[in-house]
Amino acid sequence: MLDSTLQGTFDQVLRRNAGEPEFHQAVREVFESLELIQDRHPEYQEHGILMRMCEPERQIIFRVPWVDDQGVTQVNRGFRVEYNSALGPYKGGLRFHPSVNLGIVKFLGFEQIFKNSLTGLPIGGGKGGSDFDPHGRSDGEVMRFCQSFMTELHRHMGEYTDVPAGDIGVGAREIGYLFGQYKRLTNRYEAGVLTGKGLDWGGSLVRKEATGYGAAIFADEMLKARGSSFEGKRVAVSGSGNVALYAIEKAQQLGGVPITASDSSGYVVDENGIDLQLLQQIKEVERGRIHEYADRRGNGARFVKGGSVWDVPAAIALPSATQNELSEADAQTLVKNGVEAVSEGANMPCTPEAVTVFREAGTAFGPGKAANAGGVATSALEMQQNASRDAWSFEHTERRLTEIMKNIHSTCLETAEELGRPGDYVVGANVAGFRKVADAMIAFGVI
Ligand code: GLU
Repeated sequence: MLDSTLQGTFDQVLRRNAGEPEFHQAVREVFESLELIQDRHPEYQEHGILMRMCEPERQIIFRVPWVDDQGVTQVNRGFRVEYNSALGPYKGGLRFHPSVNLGIVKFLGFEQIFKNSLTGLPIGGGKGGSDFDPHGRSDGEVMRFCQSFMTELHRHMGEYTDVPAGDIGVGAREIGYLFGQYKRLTNRYEAGVLTGKGLDWGGSLVRKEATGYGAAIFADEMLKARGSSFEGKRVAVSGSGNVALYAIEKAQQLGGVPITASDSSGYVVDENGIDLQLLQQIKEVERGRIHEYADRRGNGARFVKGGSVWDVPAAIALPSATQNELSEADAQTLVKNGVEAVSEGANMPCTPEAVTVFREAGTAFGPGKAANAGGVATSALEMQQNASRDAWSFEHTERRLTEIMKNIHSTCLETAEELGRPGDYVVGANVAGFRKVADAMIAFGVI
């Protein structure tokens, strides 16, 4: 049960946003942390900060009609939730996946506010996407879809207004088609209006790797804080998209041994350590299925159809697939198998019950809004390069990313300590992320 003021606002959120369980989940988790600072900050209540923060500044829903390769007209639904611009232009990815609906976009946009605040960079929070499924679609179909999507969205975007990027189902190919259409419609080469661009046309080195790298770096920081490390340890990773692939790479560089990857069909276990090149070839180049990894790798790598990747014993877990993929039972299995640290590469991959299991067991737990902030942070670095018409080296950009992740880690830790909850990264991330946005909102008056 929340305290009565918070409960009142939460009830209003439930009433206003019926049938959006993921959104409710994301709000509730933040509110539970904010209970700890209620008494210290009467000004937040006085200025209606919570109520205002839960209500997106603007929500855009639009029709996306396009014609498939058979000449059949298709209609998808497009979304952009411009959540909060207290710290900078709305910033957050676009997700193209059949599960996308307004509630999903709102949960992601809400999380993004605090995540972006934690990076320390001047970016507000937003998110968007569509229920379009790029899987099995030709390049031509994806292009026509993206062009139609942008034909509507472009009027809401701008490098000082709203800067989308990728998320699930949106990578460099989609960003290319979206940017091309934006450029054509506006007659402006406004590079900073989208991030995750190709390296030849305004993209940043390390952006592709950044979310996964950041999640592994965050795990490393949590381990170091308790006198441990990745060295020689088994690492379980879920997913096989952009986040998972580069979480695997960084975990390897840090001395760990990633042994799993998954997709919606099942997971692979490779006791000798994942062969990243092979996995990249199958997933990034061929856009194939995960069982092909086991088929082609030989050496005892096996594919498990369905099932849970979290059954595989590991010291470090990097859930990097999607929301609510790691259940209470999965968390219990991981704890029983001696997991030391869990760092969320995806957005909200652990259910609230799973998070409780980790907390009670004393497992180091890095919530997504802190642990996966490296992606959006590097997007902000891409915007900086675009604004100064510059392109930084891989080394320089990676150094900046690492510094940002270390700062986020120490901010969370210090905030948790200050609130009398040492080691609680959830509370640290929520409160530190929230305070900056709240203080800026107060400075701007009731708008
Ligand atoms: N979709 C990513 C996230 O969840 C990145 C957003 C961005 O780069 O704007 O943070």
